[in-house]
Amino acid sequence: MQLIDYHIHSTCSGDGHNTMLEMALASRKKGVSQLCFTDHCDLDEFMTGTPDPDCFCKRETMLEMYRQTVAAVPSDIKILLGLELGEGNHDREQAKSIAASEELDFILGSIHNLKGKPDFYGSEYRGDDYSQSIIDNYMDELIELSLLDCFDVMAHIGYPSRYIKKGGKKVEISTRTYGEKLTVLLKNLIERGKGIEINCSGFRTPPGGGSLPSVDVLRLYKELGGEIITVGSDAHKVDNAGVGLAEGFDILRDLGYKYVTVFEKRKPSFEKI
Ligand SMILES: [Zn+2]
Ligand SMILES: [Zn+2]
Repeated sequence: MQLIDYHIHSTCSGDGHNTMLEMALASRKKGVSQLCFTDHCDLDEFMTGTPDPDCFCKRETMLEMYRQTVAAVPSDIKILLGLELGEGNHDREQAKSIAASEELDFILGSIHNLKGKPDFYGSEYRGDDYSQSIIDNYMDELIELSLLDCFDVMAHIGYPSRYIKKGGKKVEISTRTYGEKLTVLLKNLIERGKGIEINCSGFRTPPGGGSLPSVDVLRLYKELGGEIITVGSDAHKVDNAGVGLAEGFDILRDLGYKYVTVFEKRKPSFEKI
């Protein structure tokens, strides 16, 4: 089975543990034939949510590491250069100028934190109403981001559901709880030629809750006519390289997709699965 990974990090991300070459070789061992590096570029500071004007300071390091990696890997694995651009809706001009970087093959659009708030990962749980408002605002910000052109594929829809609890339980971002907003969001993406990803980080052990978004959301995307879809491990270290991709491709096939989307210089094309 051909595995293609369009969400993977290296030491060019603050939370990455291994170089691009190490990640590429570990992925190849797991059967990955094509991968696109998507190191972090978050417009906001991780801990505070305040704007970070230097967020793309790793650009040159990233380019150099990418060139060295392409030169060093065996020819049976194709390596592309992307970016995970976080919070593009928080500073549209900056997002636009970063997205115009000519070396980029692909851009994931993410929201890791709300405007002026820390990353969901570090958010404090302060009661049910607060949790609910975070999720409501997250959905609204995704919709805001979906109208912009600074990305190709929206990353991990439902991300804060991993970290935020309501009534002592993890919140659910599904067609049952957010059907209307999800429909608006997915329609916006489809109309603008953007896609979504199947983020497979939840398939690592210990189990982390399956795909992001959940399968019902992926099904809604398919029903609405969504065609552009990528699969990503979101691995940050070699141990996780390629992990979960097979499950992601199984979901894709179960939904009736015959192709996965790949990108070169931000132009989509389709690979048979
Ligand atoms: Zn992310
Ligand atoms: Zn990521």
